[in-house]
Amino acid sequence: MQAVHFAKHGDADVLEYGEVPDPEVGRDEVRVDVKAGALNHLDVWTRRGLPGIDLEMPHVPGSDAAGVVREVGPDVTRFEPGDRVTVTAGVACGDCEFCRHGDPSMCVSFHIIGEHVPGVHAEEFAVPEDNLVSVPEGVDWTVAGSASLVFGTAWRMLVDRAALGPGESVLVLGASGGVGHAAVQIADYLGADVFATASTDEKLAAAADLGADHTINYESDDFASELRSLTDGRGVDVVVDHVGAATWRDSLKSLAKGGRLVTCGATTGPNPETDINRIFWNQLEVIGSTMATPGQVDDVLELVWDGTFEPRIREVLPMSEAARAHERLENREGFGKVVVVPDSER
Ligand SMILES: [Zn+2]
Repeated sequence: MQAVHFAKHGDADVLEYGEVPDPEVGRDEVRVDVKAGALNHLDVWTRRGLPGIDLEMPHVPGSDAAGVVREVGPDVTRFEPGDRVTVTAGVACGDCEFCRHGDPSMCVSFHIIGEHVPGVHAEEFAVPEDNLVSVPEGVDWTVAGSASLVFGTAWRMLVDRAALGPGESVLVLGASGGVGHAAVQIADYLGADVFATASTDEKLAAAADLGADHTINYESDDFASELRSLTDGRGVDVVVDHVGAATWRDSLKSLAKGGRLVTCGATTGPNPETDINRIFWNQLEVIGSTMATPGQVDDVLELVWDGTFEPRIREVLPMSEAARAHERLENREGFGKVVVVPDSER
């Protein structure tokens, strides 16, 4: 089959699209013909190389894709050939203390399809049936293939980890990215007063269209000062930060007393300075969040399928232009999700 792959870590030019061995289908696995798959920042990190993760090369990247079931292993019970499915990329052992207590995203051996094991930006893939969710008829493939990771991640951050409630205020940083644009929609749905930052007025208009009540251009304004003035000096109850080192201090500064900072990533680097005085004096909470449990993904995808939430599509590119697709993410061009489709599906 044809797949996006790389044989060594590096810049986007290490990506190739060409022949790799067909996926083998395990007893509990499902083989899927891919219609469309979205990129995530994780794909960029995986391509560059992450400390402690030693990939078998060549590696096929990609954690999001949707398509049609072609073949099922003998132990598969929930799917059959012809079913429409999308991937949920977190893989858990099912047996450790966290899995047994119902939170597999905290599994001690948690890993991610596309990051630690072969991914799905290919004509086909095979994954355990637990890593698939049904897609209703009528849902566009680009939507089906781009919602799972970012909406799952943002849902867990806001609903489960930060427990954002109606009437609270929330600041979403980087609202033009995948997680950011999902977080704006979810926060609005939960009844919060939503502040959003982005780098251009065009991106801010898109964030407002998706439910942001107040927008801040972080290129022209210092977002923490601007937020203070917009909230009469109070700050917000929750900050959603996936940016990392570049925003961390200002994220903490943007919180009201007792506020919660919830983080799921560090695109600009993992080692910011932290003002500990601010954390204890203002009695702040710093909350980590990673991916989502299968139940949380099911909950949020129901609201994508019924149109409550909308993954915005930046651009759809053939997989042979995967390098260009990666660069669009790295250069922060545009709003929402970059989608790739197998060249044979174009
Ligand atoms: Zn486990």
